[in-house]
Amino acid sequence: MLSDFSFDEMVVFAKKIGLPAFRGEQIFDAIYSGKTLDEVSNLPKALKEIISEQYPKYKIAHKFTSKDGTQKFLIEFFDGNIVECVLMKYKYGFTICLSTQVGCRMGCKFCASTLNGLARNLSAGEILGQVLLVNRELGGSRKERKITNVVLMGSGEPLDNYDNVLKFIELITSKKGLNISERNISLSTCGLVDKIYKLADENLNITLTISLHATNDEKRAEIMPIANKYKISEILDACKYYYDKTGRKIYFEYTLIKGVNDSDEDALNLSKLLKGFLCHVNVIPLNKVKERNLEGTSRLFAYQFVEKLKEKNVSATVRRTMGEDIGGACGQLRARYLK
Ligand code: SAH
Repeated sequence: MLSDFSFDEMVVFAKKIGLPAFRGEQIFDAIYSGKTLDEVSNLPKALKEIISEQYPKYKIAHKFTSKDGTQKFLIEFFDGNIVECVLMKYKYGFTICLSTQVGCRMGCKFCASTLNGLARNLSAGEILGQVLLVNRELGGSRKERKITNVVLMGSGEPLDNYDNVLKFIELITSKKGLNISERNISLSTCGLVDKIYKLADENLNITLTISLHATNDEKRAEIMPIANKYKISEILDACKYYYDKTGRKIYFEYTLIKGVNDSDEDALNLSKLLKGFLCHVNVIPLNKVKERNLEGTSRLFAYQFVEKLKEKNVSATVRRTMGEDIGGACGQLRARYLK
Protein backbone atom coordinates (compact mmCIF):
# COMPACT_ATOMS: atom_id res chain seq x y z
CA MET A 1 0.00 0.00 0.00
CA LEU A 2 1.26 3.45 -0.87
CA SER A 3 1.08 4.82 2.69
CA ASP A 4 3.83 2.34 3.62
CA PHE A 5 6.24 4.36 1.50
CA SER A 6 8.58 7.06 2.74
CA PHE A 7 8.91 10.20 0.62
CA ASP A 8 12.00 8.89 -1.14
CA GLU A 9 10.39 5.51 -1.75
CA MET A 10 7.39 7.29 -3.27
CA VAL A 11 9.60 9.21 -5.69
CA VAL A 12 11.30 5.95 -6.69
CA PHE A 13 7.86 4.38 -7.15
CA ALA A 14 6.75 7.27 -9.39
CA LYS A 15 9.84 6.94 -11.53
CA LYS A 16 9.38 3.21 -11.78
CA ILE A 17 5.95 3.66 -13.33
CA GLY A 18 7.34 6.25 -15.72
CA LEU A 19 6.27 9.45 -13.96
CA PRO A 20 8.28 12.55 -13.16
CA ALA A 21 9.41 12.96 -9.52
CA PHE A 22 6.90 15.73 -8.76
CA ARG A 23 4.07 13.25 -9.26
CA GLY A 24 5.59 11.19 -6.46
CA GLU A 25 5.43 14.22 -4.20
CA GLN A 26 1.81 14.88 -5.21
CA ILE A 27 0.80 11.33 -4.38
CA PHE A 28 2.65 11.60 -1.08
CA ASP A 29 0.82 14.87 -0.33
CA ALA A 30 -2.51 13.34 -1.23
CA ILE A 31 -1.98 10.46 1.17
CA TYR A 32 -0.76 12.74 3.95
CA SER A 33 -3.80 14.99 3.46
CA GLY A 34 -5.92 11.98 4.49
CA LYS A 35 -8.01 12.33 1.32
CA THR A 36 -9.54 9.55 -0.71
CA LEU A 37 -8.31 9.35 -4.27
CA ASP A 38 -11.64 10.77 -5.48
CA GLU A 39 -11.07 13.87 -3.40
CA VAL A 40 -7.62 14.56 -4.85
CA SER A 41 -7.84 17.23 -7.54
CA ASN A 42 -4.29 17.60 -8.89
CA LEU A 43 -3.75 14.12 -10.28
CA PRO A 44 -4.83 13.15 -13.81
CA LYS A 45 -7.58 10.57 -14.07
CA ALA A 46 -5.35 8.10 -15.92
CA LEU A 47 -2.78 8.28 -13.16
CA LYS A 48 -5.43 7.77 -10.49
CA GLU A 49 -6.48 4.62 -12.26
CA ILE A 50 -2.94 3.32 -12.29
CA ILE A 51 -2.42 3.85 -8.55
CA SER A 52 -5.96 3.21 -7.32
CA GLU A 53 -5.28 -0.38 -6.35
CA GLN A 54 -2.40 0.59 -4.07
CA TYR A 55 -3.86 3.84 -2.78
CA PRO A 56 -4.95 3.49 0.89
CA LYS A 57 -8.60 2.56 1.39
CA TYR A 58 -8.86 3.16 5.12
CA LYS A 59 -11.56 5.50 6.41
CA ILE A 60 -13.18 6.75 9.57
CA ALA A 61 -16.19 4.48 10.07
CA HIS A 62 -17.45 6.11 13.26
CA LYS A 63 -16.60 8.98 15.51
CA PHE A 64 -17.62 9.39 19.16
CA THR A 65 -17.11 12.51 21.23
CA SER A 66 -16.91 12.33 24.99
CA LYS A 67 -18.21 14.97 27.37
CA ASP A 68 -14.61 15.77 28.25
CA GLY A 69 -13.75 16.43 24.60
CA THR A 70 -11.91 13.14 24.03
CA GLN A 71 -12.73 11.67 20.64
CA LYS A 72 -12.70 8.04 19.65
CA PHE A 73 -12.53 6.93 16.06
CA LEU A 74 -13.25 3.56 14.57
CA ILE A 75 -10.99 3.18 11.55
CA GLU A 76 -11.95 0.69 8.89
CA PHE A 77 -9.39 -0.89 6.58
CA PHE A 78 -9.66 -2.26 3.04
CA ASP A 79 -10.58 -5.74 4.28
CA GLY A 80 -13.32 -4.55 6.64
CA ASN A 81 -11.19 -4.95 9.75
CA ILE A 82 -11.68 -2.24 12.33
CA VAL A 83 -9.47 -0.70 15.00
CA GLU A 84 -10.00 2.20 17.34
CA CYS A 85 -7.88 5.23 18.02
CA VAL A 86 -8.36 7.96 20.55
CA LEU A 87 -7.65 11.67 20.35
CA MET A 88 -7.01 13.56 23.57
CA LYS A 89 -6.61 17.30 23.88
CA TYR A 90 -4.04 18.58 26.32
CA LYS A 91 -2.72 22.07 26.98
CA TYR A 92 0.24 21.50 24.69
CA GLY A 93 -1.66 19.98 21.80
CA PHE A 94 -3.29 16.78 20.66
CA THR A 95 -2.18 13.29 21.60
CA ILE A 96 -3.35 10.36 19.54
CA CYS A 97 -3.49 6.83 20.91
CA LEU A 98 -2.99 4.31 18.11
CA SER A 99 -3.70 0.63 17.59
CA THR A 100 -0.90 -1.49 16.17
CA GLN A 101 -2.80 -4.73 15.59
CA VAL A 102 -6.36 -5.82 14.91
CA GLY A 103 -7.00 -7.57 18.22
CA CYS A 104 -4.13 -8.93 20.27
CA ARG A 105 -2.72 -12.31 21.23
CA MET A 106 -1.24 -11.41 24.61
CA GLY A 107 -4.34 -12.53 26.49
CA CYS A 108 -4.23 -10.08 29.43
CA LYS A 109 -7.23 -10.92 31.59
CA PHE A 110 -8.43 -7.35 32.09
CA CYS A 111 -8.12 -6.14 28.50
CA ALA A 112 -10.88 -6.00 25.90
CA SER A 113 -8.48 -5.93 22.93
CA THR A 114 -7.58 -9.53 23.38
CA LEU A 115 -11.10 -10.97 23.79
CA ASN A 116 -11.16 -12.36 20.25
CA GLY A 117 -7.42 -12.95 19.86
CA LEU A 118 -5.30 -11.50 17.09
CA ALA A 119 -6.94 -10.99 13.69
CA ARG A 120 -3.88 -9.54 11.99
CA ASN A 121 -1.02 -7.07 12.21
CA LEU A 122 -1.45 -3.54 10.88
CA SER A 123 1.06 -2.43 8.28
CA ALA A 124 3.17 0.67 8.92
CA GLY A 125 0.96 2.59 6.52
CA GLU A 126 -2.18 1.49 8.34
CA ILE A 127 -0.83 2.58 11.71
CA LEU A 128 0.09 5.89 10.07
CA GLY A 129 -3.32 6.08 8.39
CA GLN A 130 -5.00 6.52 11.78
CA VAL A 131 -2.93 9.67 12.31
CA LEU A 132 -3.49 11.00 8.79
CA LEU A 133 -7.27 10.57 8.96
CA VAL A 134 -7.58 12.20 12.36
CA ASN A 135 -5.13 14.97 11.42
CA ARG A 136 -7.44 15.74 8.54
CA GLU A 137 -10.46 15.80 10.88
CA LEU A 138 -8.62 18.51 12.80
CA GLY A 139 -8.07 20.48 9.60
CA GLY A 140 -4.43 19.46 9.22
CA SER A 141 -2.34 18.29 6.28
CA ARG A 142 1.22 17.09 5.66
CA LYS A 143 2.69 20.53 6.18
CA GLU A 144 0.26 21.53 8.87
CA ARG A 145 0.45 18.94 11.59
CA LYS A 146 -2.26 19.26 14.21
CA ILE A 147 -1.23 16.21 16.21
CA THR A 148 1.82 16.67 18.43
CA ASN A 149 2.10 13.42 20.39
CA VAL A 150 1.67 9.76 19.60
CA VAL A 151 1.18 6.92 22.05
CA LEU A 152 1.18 3.32 20.90
CA MET A 153 -1.28 2.22 23.56
CA GLY A 154 -4.36 1.24 21.62
CA SER A 155 -5.23 -2.30 20.68
CA GLY A 156 -2.40 -4.68 20.05
CA GLU A 157 1.07 -5.33 21.37
CA PRO A 158 3.43 -3.03 19.44
CA LEU A 159 6.50 -5.19 20.02
CA ASP A 160 4.60 -8.20 18.62
CA ASN A 161 4.41 -6.26 15.33
CA TYR A 162 7.96 -5.00 15.59
CA ASP A 163 9.02 -4.31 12.00
CA ASN A 164 5.83 -2.50 11.03
CA VAL A 165 5.90 -0.39 14.19
CA LEU A 166 9.52 0.58 13.57
CA LYS A 167 8.74 1.51 10.00
CA PHE A 168 5.77 3.55 11.24
CA ILE A 169 8.08 5.46 13.60
CA GLU A 170 10.43 6.15 10.69
CA LEU A 171 7.50 7.47 8.62
CA ILE A 172 5.91 9.66 11.26
CA THR A 173 9.18 11.24 12.39
CA SER A 174 10.38 11.92 8.86
CA LYS A 175 10.90 15.61 8.05
CA LYS A 176 9.07 14.98 4.79
CA GLY A 177 6.22 13.36 6.67
CA LEU A 178 4.45 14.74 9.73
CA ASN A 179 7.81 15.40 11.39
CA ILE A 180 6.68 14.36 14.87
CA SER A 181 9.59 14.28 17.29
CA GLU A 182 10.76 10.90 18.59
CA ARG A 183 10.56 12.39 22.08
CA ASN A 184 6.83 12.84 21.61
CA ILE A 185 6.25 9.16 20.90
CA SER A 186 5.56 6.55 23.60
CA LEU A 187 5.48 2.83 23.07
CA SER A 188 3.69 0.69 25.63
CA THR A 189 4.45 -3.01 25.99
CA CYS A 190 3.40 -5.85 28.24
CA GLY A 191 7.11 -6.70 28.34
CA LEU A 192 8.52 -8.65 25.38
CA VAL A 193 12.04 -8.67 26.77
CA ASP A 194 13.98 -9.68 23.67
CA LYS A 195 12.27 -6.92 21.69
CA ILE A 196 12.98 -4.30 24.37
CA TYR A 197 16.70 -5.01 23.93
CA LYS A 198 16.31 -4.79 20.18
CA LEU A 199 14.44 -1.48 20.47
CA ALA A 200 17.13 -0.08 22.76
CA ASP A 201 19.71 -0.76 20.06
CA GLU A 202 17.75 1.20 17.42
CA ASN A 203 18.98 4.49 18.90
CA LEU A 204 15.55 6.06 18.96
CA ASN A 205 14.54 8.67 21.48
CA ILE A 206 11.08 7.29 22.09
CA THR A 207 9.63 6.72 25.56
CA LEU A 208 9.26 3.15 26.72
CA THR A 209 6.27 2.31 28.87
CA ILE A 210 5.92 -1.05 30.59
CA SER A 211 2.55 -2.48 31.61
CA LEU A 212 3.60 -4.01 34.90
CA HIS A 213 0.36 -4.43 36.89
CA ALA A 214 1.83 -6.79 39.51
CA THR A 215 4.86 -6.99 41.76
CA ASN A 216 5.64 -10.69 41.66
CA ASP A 217 5.69 -13.19 38.82
CA GLU A 218 2.98 -15.51 40.19
CA LYS A 219 0.46 -12.74 40.57
CA ARG A 220 1.42 -11.23 37.24
CA ALA A 221 0.92 -14.57 35.51
CA GLU A 222 -2.63 -14.73 36.87
CA ILE A 223 -3.57 -11.62 34.90
CA MET A 224 -0.92 -11.52 32.16
CA PRO A 225 0.05 -14.77 30.39
CA ILE A 226 3.27 -13.14 29.11
CA ALA A 227 4.57 -13.43 32.70
CA ASN A 228 4.97 -17.16 32.09
CA LYS A 229 7.60 -16.32 29.52
CA TYR A 230 9.47 -13.39 31.05
CA LYS A 231 10.16 -12.64 34.71
CA ILE A 232 9.70 -9.16 36.14
CA SER A 233 13.42 -9.13 36.96
CA GLU A 234 14.20 -9.76 33.28
CA ILE A 235 11.90 -6.92 32.24
CA LEU A 236 13.59 -4.56 34.68
CA ASP A 237 17.04 -5.55 33.43
CA ALA A 238 15.89 -4.81 29.88
CA CYS A 239 14.53 -1.43 31.07
CA LYS A 240 17.88 -0.60 32.64
CA TYR A 241 19.56 -1.42 29.36
CA TYR A 242 17.03 0.77 27.53
CA TYR A 243 17.71 3.62 29.93
CA ASP A 244 21.48 3.27 29.61
CA LYS A 245 21.24 3.30 25.83
CA THR A 246 18.74 6.14 25.41
CA GLY A 247 18.79 8.16 28.63
CA ARG A 248 14.97 8.12 28.51
CA LYS A 249 13.02 7.83 31.73
CA ILE A 250 11.00 4.61 31.84
CA TYR A 251 7.25 4.72 32.55
CA PHE A 252 5.36 1.95 34.27
CA GLU A 253 1.65 1.42 33.99
CA TYR A 254 0.02 -0.08 37.02
CA THR A 255 -3.68 -0.82 36.68
CA LEU A 256 -5.37 -1.28 40.04
CA ILE A 257 -7.60 -4.34 40.21
CA LYS A 258 -9.66 -4.75 43.34
CA GLY A 259 -8.30 -7.42 45.64
CA VAL A 260 -5.69 -8.53 43.10
CA ASN A 261 -2.83 -6.02 43.10
CA ASP A 262 -3.95 -3.05 45.18
CA SER A 263 -2.91 -3.83 48.76
CA ASP A 264 -0.48 -1.86 50.95
CA GLU A 265 1.93 -4.71 50.51
CA ASP A 266 1.68 -4.35 46.72
CA ALA A 267 2.56 -0.66 46.99
CA LEU A 268 5.51 -1.46 49.22
CA ASN A 269 6.74 -4.24 46.92
CA LEU A 270 6.39 -1.97 43.91
CA SER A 271 8.49 0.69 45.57
CA LYS A 272 11.14 -1.92 46.39
CA LEU A 273 11.19 -3.16 42.80
CA LEU A 274 11.64 0.32 41.36
CA LYS A 275 14.05 1.67 43.93
CA GLY A 276 16.84 3.72 42.39
CA PHE A 277 15.30 3.60 38.93
CA LEU A 278 14.71 6.80 36.93
CA CYS A 279 11.07 6.11 36.25
CA HIS A 280 7.51 7.21 36.75
CA VAL A 281 4.50 5.09 37.65
CA ASN A 282 1.10 5.79 36.13
CA VAL A 283 -1.53 4.32 38.38
CA ILE A 284 -4.92 3.77 36.80
CA PRO A 285 -8.01 2.17 38.27
CA LEU A 286 -9.12 -0.70 36.06
CA ASN A 287 -11.71 0.26 33.53
CA LYS A 288 -14.18 -2.56 33.95
CA VAL A 289 -14.55 -4.81 30.93
CA LYS A 290 -17.93 -6.42 31.18
CA GLU A 291 -16.81 -9.70 29.65
CA ARG A 292 -14.25 -10.07 32.45
CA ASN A 293 -14.77 -10.82 36.09
CA LEU A 294 -12.44 -8.14 37.47
CA GLU A 295 -13.30 -4.96 39.32
CA GLY A 296 -11.45 -1.67 39.43
CA THR A 297 -10.30 0.07 42.55
CA SER A 298 -11.90 3.44 43.38
CA ARG A 299 -10.11 6.63 42.34
CA LEU A 300 -9.79 7.66 45.98
CA PHE A 301 -8.02 4.39 46.69
CA ALA A 302 -5.80 4.95 43.66
CA TYR A 303 -4.69 8.30 45.13
CA GLN A 304 -3.88 6.56 48.39
CA PHE A 305 -1.85 3.93 46.51
CA VAL A 306 0.10 6.71 44.81
CA GLU A 307 0.75 8.39 48.17
CA LYS A 308 2.25 5.15 49.45
CA LEU A 309 4.60 5.04 46.48
CA LYS A 310 5.58 8.65 46.94
CA GLU A 311 6.36 8.05 50.61
CA LYS A 312 8.95 5.60 49.35
CA ASN A 313 10.31 8.15 46.88
CA VAL A 314 8.80 6.59 43.78
CA SER A 315 7.49 9.18 41.34
CA ALA A 316 3.84 8.34 40.65
CA THR A 317 0.53 9.88 39.62
CA VAL A 318 -3.00 8.70 39.08
CA ARG A 319 -3.53 8.80 35.39
CA ARG A 320 -6.38 10.96 34.17
CA THR A 321 -9.11 8.82 32.75
CA MET A 322 -10.54 10.32 29.62
CA GLY A 323 -13.47 9.38 27.52
CA GLU A 324 -14.89 6.90 29.99
CA ASP A 325 -18.41 7.54 28.80
CA ILE A 326 -17.50 6.46 25.26
CA GLY A 327 -15.82 3.14 25.99
CA GLY A 328 -12.74 3.88 28.09
CA ALA A 329 -9.98 1.34 27.76
CA CYS A 330 -8.42 -0.27 24.75
CA GLY A 331 -10.53 -2.49 22.63
CA GLN A 332 -13.80 -1.76 24.41
CA LEU A 333 -15.29 0.23 21.62
CA ARG A 334 -14.37 -2.25 18.94
CA ALA A 335 -15.62 -5.13 21.09
CA ARG A 336 -18.97 -3.37 21.38
CA TYR A 337 -19.07 -2.56 17.71
CA LEU A 338 -18.43 -6.15 16.65
CA LYS A 339 -21.50 -7.34 18.52
N1 SAH B 1 -0.06 -4.13 24.54
C1 SAH B 1 0.48 -2.92 25.07
C2 SAH B 1 -0.28 -1.67 24.70
C3 SAH B 1 -1.77 -1.68 24.71
S1 SAH B 1 -2.62 -1.58 26.23
C4 SAH B 1 0.65 -3.03 26.55
O1 SAH B 1 0.34 -4.04 27.12
O2 SAH B 1 1.19 -2.09 27.16
C5 SAH B 1 -2.36 0.03 26.88
C6 SAH B 1 -2.48 0.03 28.41
O3 SAH B 1 -3.86 -0.08 28.83
C7 SAH B 1 -1.73 -1.10 29.06
O4 SAH B 1 -1.04 -0.64 30.18
C8 SAH B 1 -2.85 -2.04 29.43
O5 SAH B 1 -2.44 -2.93 30.42
C9 SAH B 1 -3.94 -1.06 29.85
N2 SAH B 1 -5.28 -1.61 29.90
C10 SAH B 1 -5.85 -2.54 29.11
N3 SAH B 1 -7.11 -2.79 29.48
C11 SAH B 1 -7.36 -1.98 30.51
C12 SAH B 1 -8.51 -1.77 31.33
N4 SAH B 1 -9.63 -2.46 31.13
N5 SAH B 1 -8.43 -0.85 32.31
C13 SAH B 1 -7.28 -0.15 32.51
N6 SAH B 1 -6.18 -0.29 31.77
C14 SAH B 1 -6.21 -1.22 30.79
